[in-house]
Amino acid sequence: MPVTARVSMPSRGRRTAKLRIGEFGLIRTLQQRYRSKSSRILRGIGDDAAVIVSGHNRRQLLTTDLLAEGVHFNLRTATFADVGFRAAAANLSDIAAMGGTPEYVLVSLAMPRSASPAQVGQLYRGIMAACRPHDVRLIGGDTSASAMGWFINITLVGSAASRHVLLRSGAREGDDLYVTGTLGDSRAGLQLLRERAPAGSRRSLPPRHRRFLLNRHLRPTARIREGRWLSTGRWATSAIDISDGLSGDVRHLCEESDVGVDLDLSAVPISTACRVYATVANENPAMLALAGGEDYELLFTVPCGQRARFQRATASNRIRATRIGAMKSARQGLHMTLSNGRRRPLPFISYEHFSSKT
Ligand code: ADP
Ligand code: MG
Repeated sequence: MPVTARVSMPSRGRRTAKLRIGEFGLIRTLQQRYRSKSSRILRGIGDDAAVIVSGHNRRQLLTTDLLAEGVHFNLRTATFADVGFRAAAANLSDIAAMGGTPEYVLVSLAMPRSASPAQVGQLYRGIMAACRPHDVRLIGGDTSASAMGWFINITLVGSAASRHVLLRSGAREGDDLYVTGTLGDSRAGLQLLRERAPAGSRRSLPPRHRRFLLNRHLRPTARIREGRWLSTGRWATSAIDISDGLSGDVRHLCEESDVGVDLDLSAVPISTACRVYATVANENPAMLALAGGEDYELLFTVPCGQRARFQRATASNRIRATRIGAMKSARQGLHMTLSNGRRRPLPFISYEHFSSKT
């Protein structure tokens, strides 16, 4: 790619932290260069999934993700079944963020010559364990040898009614900002796997909290039910899933919607396990949530006039959604309010800026 892709934009997430080409700059360049004029392509590059007209009032949703050994997973700390599950969940989560229903999956593998049938079998068991609850069928893929480690590429195809598609670009000034579930767990689980916490603190983390955090990292839940509920009920004006970390993903939502945000850091939902982990590991829980990534929760906006109705509806439908901020005009910019009440520009933070370990 041209050198312009190396703009001063920060590189995003763990995938590209060590690349000369920042992922964000590359995507912007591709988006501008290959913008398509077809009336059937409603969204190409730039959202969680592409949106294609597939029939009267029907939209097809397509998304793909690549996991590389040593970058996205480490076979010393995750089983093949875990890796397959996470790869599928990352794609399912993109369909959830579009408010869609996942339908078909294609899996491409490049594997070292030493790979065994048992390893491949485990990988597929993990993929299908994530897909089966949503009735997603395996319909194809590709197989290759790899000169360096494993590569797993998953493509997911889904659909939604045209009026139910959720885009990153629908947020408006005055909307409330919400997130499902809790944030920071996946990063805490990853740190436990890497055994970065001091030995003494690891001992003092109760086993149930450790199990919870490891599970949140290795077996993330794609919020398909929540995404469909938000879209079919016409609650959300926009949505994105949290794969890069709250500070990066809220930025994508703002850029695509051309709005600003005031994020209330003290409102960000953090699990008890993550709080206990943060205390014993001497970490800042807000940092785990802002910079962590791979929580695969949904970040979405709802008009503030709907607040009371929306909050009643989430309670009666057992949807966990926490209000964590408000959308502002683009001119007002992106800010966060700290627990001490101070307001700061929203930083772009990712753990990968501080660590090169995988
Ligand atoms: P997500 O984290 O939701 O999977 P990404 O940040 O990976 O989204 O990608 C954002 C957008 O950029 C998506 O529309 C994706 O299809 C597109 N994209 C990412 N990498 C490439 C690439 N190498 N070529 C073309 N499009 C890409
Ligand atoms: Mg996404």
